Amino acid sequence: MKLQAIRGMHDYLPVETALLEHIEKILKKILFSYGYNEISFPIVEKTSLFKKAIGSITDVVEKEMYIFKDRKGESLTLRPEGTASCVRAGIEHGFLYNKEQKFWYKGPMFRYERPQKGRYRQFNQIGVEVFGHKGPDIDAELIFMTHRWWRALCISDYVKLEINSIGSKSERARYRKVLVSFLKLNKHHLDETCLKRIDTNPLRILDSKNNNIKKLLNDAPLITDYLDENSKKHFDNLCKFLKLAGISYTINPKLVRGLDYYNRTVFEWVTKNIGSQGALCGGGRYDYLVEQLGGNATPAIGFAIGLDRLIMLIKTAYPNLNLNKKVDAYIIGTSNNIKNSTLFLAEKIRNYLPKLRLMTNYGEGSLKKQFNLAYKYGAKLALVIGENEIASNKVFVKDLCMGNKELISQNDVILKLKDFFKKYN
Ligand code: AMP
Repeated sequence: MKLQAIRGMHDYLPVETALLEHIEKILKKILFSYGYNEISFPIVEKTSLFKKAIGSITDVVEKEMYIFKDRKGESLTLRPEGTASCVRAGIEHGFLYNKEQKFWYKGPMFRYERPQKGRYRQFNQIGVEVFGHKGPDIDAELIFMTHRWWRALCISDYVKLEINSIGSKSERARYRKVLVSFLKLNKHHLDETCLKRIDTNPLRILDSKNNNIKKLLNDAPLITDYLDENSKKHFDNLCKFLKLAGISYTINPKLVRGLDYYNRTVFEWVTKNIGSQGALCGGGRYDYLVEQLGGNATPAIGFAIGLDRLIMLIKTAYPNLNLNKKVDAYIIGTSNNIKNSTLFLAEKIRNYLPKLRLMTNYGEGSLKKQFNLAYKYGAKLALVIGENEIASNKVFVKDLCMGNKELISQNDVILKLKDFFKKYN
């Protein structure tokens, strides 16, 4: 049997891990500048947490969770998202009540979805959650921050912002009624999935990718017409802030998002450049969730960005990008008897110059083969030691870009490297 990763789960090869590190570094710097602190929670939680938080009639809870029993028979779930855990942690440690909090977290999420390009069963997210602010200013600031991320990652031209307001629970309930009537009148146009959703989660039908249904939905009632004055004002103010900041957006009245806990502002950054799974980052307000999970009523908003899709987008935009650092210097031994000298010269250099990326030749190999390896790893300098060099306490140094060679005293190697790599650092 051929050994393979589990369907929908994929490896990150060094090109991707280097890209991930680069992305994280940039995002973390910006998160820091907006006052966020990192939080981290377990990958496994009680199943009841997700059922309560996400809603039992959502796709995630109905069919996408990895659920298993532990040895005592307790039902546990591999986390499908981070918000529920963040709220659970906030209530458990008492850091939400009457406090304003800004958190971010990262890590793998698990959903048993049908795998395809950009849609995995294990995927990575960076999530952001803010507690204690009810106004549209924080909604705007979250979007400003994501906008800044795209600029820092040089992908602003590839992403577009969609926003919507899905109102409060009661506004949604009113809207749901008229939407259901409309859908029932047009039942014959709906596919099997949508028919099932009419009575369970009709708003999700607005998300349908089926072209005939999309056409039908052009005539469907819009949630934006069922918002009360306060929700309208909140949304108008958000739009005003975005305009003032020069951030373009489209109001998409059909954007409802997949999880039940959202209310009022919802948003998504989407791209057309990575295929059909174009949602890159999405979130919204969830003002009821803390109370729903047993805490004191606390307004909240958050979003998550899918790192797998972000990596795909950056790779599409910059196909030749490879952030794996080349080797700076390569140490060559002219015979196998002098391994001591090459290995320990490398150790000495690492003691003094820990930032330098250094490799030595392992095992046996002709001089030619070792030089070829030095070129292959992209080394700029080769340091060569042979019997003669050992006897005279010298090292032969070759600049692999310019071809210059010189014989220097072993005592001067550190100074030489410091001087040579100054121009690169
Ligand atoms: P959500 O947690 O559903 O709000 O999704 C937030 C972001 O996570 C999305 O915009 C995607 O970029 C990413 N995402 C969600 N589900 C998947 C998946 N199955 N595979 C890869 N990325 C995903």
